[in-house]
Amino acid sequence: MIVMKFGGSSVADASRIRHVAEIVKTQLEKKPALVLSAMGDTTDHLLEAAETALKEGKVEISHIEKLHLTAIKTLKLPIQKEIGVLLDELKRLLSGIALIRELTVRTKDYLVSFGERLSVRISAAYLKSIGMNARAFDAWELGFISNSGYGHAELLKESWDLIPQKILPLIKGNVLPVITGFIAKDENNIITTLGRGGSDLSATMIAASCRADEVQVWKDVDGILTADPRIVKKARPVQSVTYDEAAELAYFGAQVLHPRAMQPCMKTGTPVLVKNSYNIEAPGTRIEPASSGGKNRLPVRAITSRQNVMLVDIVSTRMLGQYGFLAEVFSIFARHNISVDMVATSEVSVSLTLDTSHDLTEAKKELNKIASVEIKTGKAIVSIIGNVKRSSEILARASKICQYIGVTVQMISQGASKVNISFIVNDTEAVETVKALHLDFFES
Ligand code: ASP
Ligand code: MG
Repeated sequence: MIVMKFGGSSVADASRIRHVAEIVKTQLEKKPALVLSAMGDTTDHLLEAAETALKEGKVEISHIEKLHLTAIKTLKLPIQKEIGVLLDELKRLLSGIALIRELTVRTKDYLVSFGERLSVRISAAYLKSIGMNARAFDAWELGFISNSGYGHAELLKESWDLIPQKILPLIKGNVLPVITGFIAKDENNIITTLGRGGSDLSATMIAASCRADEVQVWKDVDGILTADPRIVKKARPVQSVTYDEAAELAYFGAQVLHPRAMQPCMKTGTPVLVKNSYNIEAPGTRIEPASSGGKNRLPVRAITSRQNVMLVDIVSTRMLGQYGFLAEVFSIFARHNISVDMVATSEVSVSLTLDTSHDLTEAKKELNKIASVEIKTGKAIVSIIGNVKRSSEILARASKICQYIGVTVQMISQGASKVNISFIVNDTEAVETVKALHLDFFES
């Protein structure tokens, strides 16, 4: 069994749904279960409709209606009635919001659930119409029980048993289940959502709990790239990364799964394959446990950068041989809700990086009471995500490159997971550094 997840852009309209059917058709012998997002930007449009109901007291869903009804018509599906019932329920809900001019987080979850519920019914009907034994399911019919944290609910432990209990018999019976991503119900039977982009988590949860062979996440990019293609023209897809490497990459906004979505598969070691539904031929990127990532002979997986970073140097002779100094420093940042990214320390100083979006005025006043503080803006973090076992080689090569192009490294840190080696350089040098590192590690 495998799980195939298609995001909103992969099921955006009738022609994209036909394309999904083509992809599914070639893998039927692997016994897939499908997880779908809402069509296109439907989730956003539902939220906009809610705002309109709330602020203007109007029910306006013509865009949503048109998108779904056009798809049914184009695909010649006999489900106008079923979809009509859902759309009517949606309109009644919006009328309610328009009337009472109130929108709770709980109601919002009920509202956005229509996107995925419409989507699976249309796609399942199409797959059925071309001869597949497809059946649409709302996730709560198949064991998705969450807590009541509306807007970002967490699945309950029971789901680990319930989901396979429901899904495996379907798969054995040769049913092709087409399941809503993103949504669940709490113990009181109230609809919840798993957070924006939550369909990935629905898919990985099914794959892990059913011990599937793999989960394929179909997106609109060729997988994880070796660098940002806007900076490095020769950036290319990475064949495979470990879960840890993927988590490090997510921090830089790489097109991977949210770390939360990887958790179920990390538990069971289920491989995740990120594929491009707009470019089926591309091999995509495999995210898998460290042990099986051996095919990848290059020491480095990807090079990323993050600009607009602040470097804060905190120096105090009081730190020498003292305890509690670092705790004091970090508690000051915590009190001011400032999240620290990289840290490097010596006996008498600590350097750390922050996003420039933080206002440091107040925190600096407090820090100044215990140390001298220097804030440098206009910095960038350049990170090399690579093979844990070859970190010395990576460090040596990277230092040599920086020296060669005349870039001074102002701070260096190797994450505890050791898959991430990060340098601080001037913002103006970031692009050049990434290019030079990519050239050395990938293009020579
Ligand atoms: N449709 C939801 C969203 O747009 C969930 C998802 O696509 O994963 O956030
Ligand atoms: Mg979406």
